[in-house]
Amino acid sequence: MNNDHKFSPESLMMSYGYKPALSEGAIKSPIFLTSTFVFKNAEEGKAFFELAYGLREKGKNEELGLIYSRINNPDLEILENRLTLWDEAEECAVFESGMSAITTVLLEFLKPGDLLLYSTPLYGGTDHFIHHFLSKIGVNTLAFKPGQEQDELKSILEASGMADKLAMIYIETPANPTNAVIDISACKAIAEKYSTSEKKVLIAVDNTYMGPLWQQPLKLGADFSLYSATKYIGGHSDVIAGACCGSFEVIKRVKTLRTFLGNMASPHTGWLLMRSLETLKIRMEQQAFNAAKVAEFLNKHPKIEKVYYLGNIPKGTREYEVFQKQYSSAGAMLSFDVRGGEKEAFTFINSLKLIKLAVSLGGTESLVEHPYTMTHAGVDPHHKQEMSVTEKMVRLSTGVENYRDIIWDIEQALEKV
Ligand SMILES: *Cc1c(COP(=O)(O)O)cnc(C)c1O
Repeated sequence: MNNDHKFSPESLMMSYGYKPALSEGAIKSPIFLTSTFVFKNAEEGKAFFELAYGLREKGKNEELGLIYSRINNPDLEILENRLTLWDEAEECAVFESGMSAITTVLLEFLKPGDLLLYSTPLYGGTDHFIHHFLSKIGVNTLAFKPGQEQDELKSILEASGMADKLAMIYIETPANPTNAVIDISACKAIAEKYSTSEKKVLIAVDNTYMGPLWQQPLKLGADFSLYSATKYIGGHSDVIAGACCGSFEVIKRVKTLRTFLGNMASPHTGWLLMRSLETLKIRMEQQAFNAAKVAEFLNKHPKIEKVYYLGNIPKGTREYEVFQKQYSSAGAMLSFDVRGGEKEAFTFINSLKLIKLAVSLGGTESLVEHPYTMTHAGVDPHHKQEMSVTEKMVRLSTGVENYRDIIWDIEQALEKV
């Protein structure tokens, strides 16, 4: 019998980080709807604040006491502890949205004059923040495309004349909506090359599409694993939230800025996400299983021109190598081109009976959307063509329904085209 058995994350999602004795024996964490916490005495209040403001080092086994819900709250702390398990991270910070997690990291670790290198296409909100806010405060930005990170990235960087200013590489992989993969370790090699003794070039990965189950960026050398917890982690399309996992060192800075921006999640959001985490693995696995069945069906359908799905990457290619190294599943997101154009794609979408038309992804229900006119409406048409986002493309987030029903729905809708 092995006495130091290590539990899997899915086995710890119901209990980790929560002590029933501190809450009248309640099996589940209550929602701590409180703005402030009572100190036992003045000495305790002083000690808590000394830690909160970094006025002294943490004592051995000492934890930051509860002070005020903008700084900490039991629902957020337990949730953060549970989220570290999937990424094998030292620390985690949860936010009121994915965008607040992303923007807080960018604001804390970039300053005017720095260079941010980022992969394209990026989530629309992130792209907007980079171009309309970071550029305004004097942060330089430089884009690269999937595939370029393997050998062209260095020349792109050198050609910009700003290589010495490189502060962060920001990656979104696989790319939305084409599922193009970006090699995180290749980016890590670039980050190391341009790091100096005074400045470490950081790597941030938006892990919303494949995490936390199927991709662990920190293990591949990234410094931040970022989430829109609105997607798989929340998983029921009923909450907006975000998270950031990383080392003690970086998350301490992230949490400090969060305290002053005030963009932490609410106790109720924390509680909802804890409830969601209990079924995270079975939901995601069922979604990936269903997506594989749907892809198999679409691959053979005469009205479908092309299927963009990680499970379709041809063996023996460089992309396949990255896929193998980086992912433990082909995921549950796929896009496909309906033969024709906007008219055909719209007829298909409008004929669906079970699958809903909405943006967002990763929830229990299957959703379709039309990237060209919806999520990617703001991207310039030339750039859209370049990355194969055309009028005929439909994106599907596969849910947990019976896959036969999903396929039936797609089949009958394609018949109307
Ligand atoms: C949805 C999403 C975001 C933004 O998250 P919110 O929770 O909506 O703020 C960021 N990145 C990706 C990849 C997303 O899908």
